[in-house]
Order: sequence, then structure tokens, then C-alpha cells
Amino acid sequence: MSEEDQEILNRQREKRKRVHRMKMAIISFFFIYLMASIVTMVMLTLKCVSLQKQIDTIADSLKTDGSAEATESSVEAENGDVLIMDKASVEANLATETDTLKVYLTFDDGPSKNTNAILDILDDYNVKATFFVCGKTSEEDKASLQRIVNEGHTIGMHSYTHKYSTIYSSLDAFKNDFSLIENLIYDTTGVEPKYYRFPGGSSNKASNTDMSEYIRFLNDSGIKYFDWNVSSGDATTQAYSADELVENVMKDVVKYKTSVVLLHDADDKTETVKALPKMIEELQAKGALILPISDDTTLIQHVTLSEDNNN
Ligand code: ZN
Repeated sequence: MSEEDQEILNRQREKRKRVHRMKMAIISFFFIYLMASIVTMVMLTLKCVSLQKQIDTIADSLKTDGSAEATESSVEAENGDVLIMDKASVEANLATETDTLKVYLTFDDGPSKNTNAILDILDDYNVKATFFVCGKTSEEDKASLQRIVNEGHTIGMHSYTHKYSTIYSSLDAFKNDFSLIENLIYDTTGVEPKYYRFPGGSSNKASNTDMSEYIRFLNDSGIKYFDWNVSSGDATTQAYSADELVENVMKDVVKYKTSVVLLHDADDKTETVKALPKMIEELQAKGALILPISDDTTLIQHVTLSEDNNN
């Protein structure tokens, strides 16, 4: 082989090597690009899941009791052997024409800017109601708690934080929240509260844990919990007018001997305040007794512990 041939051969080898290196570079580039895309996709998916969880948590804490009651009549206890819907007591509570209707107006979520207006109206009609209050600690709020008690209304607990994700996270968290609201009411008014309304009701679906634990805790503590069987609709996403709130209540109270009516005492529930005089007048025109919750009140509970029911 001449030197010239050798030179040509070397150049050809060099060229093949360069082509090979370029091929490898292109393949490596596409491989890295593909891997980076996959990693980015996985990270975005994880981020989406985490954001959805945060949205759920925020939505939980914003929920009020009324949002749970929309499906209330069709709720089945998840843990059927422990929590039951007591159909017999619902049937026993159905009114006949001759029954005198007992109506318990209950206001959740207060105190609020509207508490005084509600109390003024109740006072005008000399009607007593029930307030399931939360942990509000300003001087105005404490004065409202005191006024509720002074004017002969029943004061009950509706959790301290009203944050579903907190109070229903564990039995310890529930007990802790319970002590806070119990102490606030006692320290402010001197009344030992005996009644509880679960945020979202006892049949709420916001709790990830079994509601039976919390119900058992209340039962063991001698605390009665009250749900509702008549909803004004003042906490549903549909914004009812004052007249519609009255209609919602009047349509249902005639069905039951004992009606526990769900209303809200919150800053933005001005229609509820507006509805109240007409609601009271129409109830009284029907001959209904408007009463505050007491130990004599027929329990209205969405779910109960089956073991208690058998006793
Ligand atoms: Zn509430």
C-alpha cells in the first residue's frame, strides 16, 4: 500500500469516527430530552395532586352545615354496623293534624355582626331560640354570648374552629377543640354547655375518620348533639331571598311534631335576619310552639350509634 493510499484510508477512518460521534451525540440528546420530559411530567402530576388536596382542605374549612344537608335525607352511614339512621324515630316524629307543632329555631356559626339584630327580633316576639356558637373571642362576641344567655336562649357548642380538616382529623383533635369551645362559653357566661351541633351535622361526609368516635365521646361526656330536620337553606350555594327562606321552613315544619330548624348567625346572612319576623309570625299563625332546646327536646339526629339505639 502506497503512502497516498494509507493517507486516504486514514482520512476515511477519521470521517467514519466523526459521523459515529455525531450520531451518538444526537441519540444522547434525544434520550436526555425524553428523560427530562418524563421527569417534568411526573413532577407536574405530583404538583397537581398536591394542589387538589390543598383545594379540598380549603373547601372543607369553608363548608357550612347547610352544604351537607342537601343530601341529608339520603345519607347512609358508611359504617352500617355502628352508625345508623334511626328511621323509627323519624316516623314517630311525623305530625298528624291534631298535633301541636314544636319548633326549635337554631342559629349556627355565631356570634356575628348579626347576633344583636337576631336577638332584638326574638325579643320583640318574646321567642326563645338556640345558638350553636363557635370560638369568637372579641369583646363584642363575648358580649353577644352573654346576651344570648341573659335573654333566656339556649347556648350550645358548634366547635371552636369550625375547620373540618382540623376537628375531624383525630379524636384527640376533636376533644381539644371541644374543650376550647366548652371553656370559652363557661368562662364567658358561667353556663356549662350541654348541647353540641357537629359542623356539617353528624352525617357529614367531610370527616375522614369515623364519626362514631366523636359521637361516643359526646355520649360519654353527657353532651347531647342535635342535628336538624328542617333547613331554611340559608347556607346552600343557592342564595334564597328572605321570603324563600320562610317558605322553605314553613313547607317542612308542618311534617313533624318536633322540628329543629337550621339557620345561620353569620356576617353575610342578612337574608336570614330579614326572614325572621315573618318566619315567627307564620309559625305562630300555625299554632306552633317556638322553644329553646332543653333536656325535654326530642332528639333530632341524622345518625346515632346503633348500640345506643338498642338500649
Ligand atoms: Zn356551622
